[in-house]
Amino acid sequence: MTFFRVSLIFLLLAASGCRREPAPVVGENLRVDGARALALTGQFVALGPKPAGSPAGLQAAAWIAAHCRELGGAAVQVEMDAWDGPTPLGRRSFRNVLARLPGTDSKPRILIAAHFDTKSLLASPEFAGANDSGSGVGLLLELLRVLAAAPDRTGPTLEFAFFDGEECQVDYGPSDGLHGSRRLAGHIAAEKRAAQYRAMILLDMIGDRNLGLALPADTPPALLRLLRAVAERRGTADRIGLRTTVMLDDHVPFQELGIPAIDLIDFDYGPGNSWWHTNEDTLDKLSAPSLQITGDLVLGLLSELRRGPLPAPDKDSVP
Ligand SMILES: [Zn+2]
Repeated sequence: MTFFRVSLIFLLLAASGCRREPAPVVGENLRVDGARALALTGQFVALGPKPAGSPAGLQAAAWIAAHCRELGGAAVQVEMDAWDGPTPLGRRSFRNVLARLPGTDSKPRILIAAHFDTKSLLASPEFAGANDSGSGVGLLLELLRVLAAAPDRTGPTLEFAFFDGEECQVDYGPSDGLHGSRRLAGHIAAEKRAAQYRAMILLDMIGDRNLGLALPADTPPALLRLLRAVAERRGTADRIGLRTTVMLDDHVPFQELGIPAIDLIDFDYGPGNSWWHTNEDTLDKLSAPSLQITGDLVLGLLSELRRGPLPAPDKDSVP
């Protein structure tokens, strides 16, 4: 992912009057196990570097698919989407891993996603990205486990996407970076299914011990309001802030289809974000409580989204 402007202002969102007093809904009381999410993250990181479109990336995709089947059991449908595509360094083979938990409503869907490839760093070929990308993969697998085991599957189908090729090789462009998310968004567009998606939730760099989710300025206001309401109920509203800048990340191809898409990202990793894309991005910088906080926010958001569609896009600015 990249950011467009350097001057970032991180605005803490104070507790507001948006609190909802909802009736009990499906999944309201579900919680992830942060320790399990961290253990899965560690196992995935131990596989080593997974540069976009590399043989190691293909093996990582197979590992993810196997874990989706194991953790999701009979409830989950898993598929591998394989394709070749151009990159600045020549054609590469990519894989997206897609897992589905069918709901009782056949049409509406909610997509939850993370990228699994790691940045290819010439100076650090051993870079294995604990937070970027391990944390997103570990938490997404733990979310799949919890949601697959939930007794009530009322509501929309839940889709889990593990994207290849998020990281660019040279610079972001039509054939560099966001390969996996553009691939899935392209399929949804070709099949004219964008309207089926109530929302897309992206996890990226969400395991930092010192967790501060700084949402890009393009966060849909309706989704942000729901997230804030959930965070207030969970007592974690202080972990959510809003940037004045947008970020190019895997949520963008879905926003371009008109799907409300939110990027849960902590882009302040180490002093001055200095651990990002360096060998400092190691497992000891992450924590189970941070994965727990993010995972429980996602479960709360899913619970809210299962009630029904978001209100129509409003014109007001992000609250
Ligand atoms: Zn990255």
